[in-house]
Amino acid sequence: MNSAIIVAAGSGERFRSEIPKQFLEINGRPLIEWTVERVHAAPSVDLIILVLAEDHIHRFDELRAGFPKLTAIVAGGQSRAESVGKGLAAVAADCEIVAVHDGARPLVSVDEIERTISAARSTGAACLVASVTDTIKSIHSGEIAATLDRDKLRRALTPQAFRVEILKRAFESAGLTNAVTDECYLVEKLGHPIAIVEGSASNIKITHPEDLVLAEALMETVRGTPAG
Ligand code: C5P
Repeated sequence: MNSAIIVAAGSGERFRSEIPKQFLEINGRPLIEWTVERVHAAPSVDLIILVLAEDHIHRFDELRAGFPKLTAIVAGGQSRAESVGKGLAAVAADCEIVAVHDGARPLVSVDEIERTISAARSTGAACLVASVTDTIKSIHSGEIAATLDRDKLRRALTPQAFRVEILKRAFESAGLTNAVTDECYLVEKLGHPIAIVEGSASNIKITHPEDLVLAEALMETVRGTPAG
């Protein structure tokens, strides 16, 4: 049995909206409903744990009936890593693979979820990634220090999937500092290899208001259905 943890307990500070970002509408439906629908449509996901800010949990009440795999909604923490930790604590004892997905990525495809879970089943840990198309510079004291070789760089997307015991061990052995912006960071510290799974640039994270416009356009064109 496999579980997915969808983390959507962020405060959306960079969004500056009165309605929490997760509940803003994309083409007539709340962002988080699109995300849960896509994860729900993945055949390898048996159970879903949704992590929301405590005072937003009631906002999902009306949507819940449409998602029988959604077995738990838990309150998140101060950081993304803390929210994932709370979701992980709700994962059933007989779970084999856990896939962690950002609630703010409503354009993930079923194929991306399936390929990431499948890679984690064979290797223990897998991360969906996308190529880097810009030239990336490292900076120091307000100046460019170096140019990084972009062929060796990838953007870490979600889902990121792991055998449950590996992710639990990674959480137990590392401190949850601000540097922990994804689960792979913790598993890297553990020294466990992480397979990469090529994903699409369409699997954007809704961070700024203009991302909503892009998401609406992508929904209408390349990623209109969960199958993408
Ligand atoms: O902040 P960031 O863009 O990395 O957030 C990625 C995902 O983690 C979002 O879906 C956000 O709602 C979630 N998150 C969370 N709890 C927090 C902070 C972020 O569930 N405290």
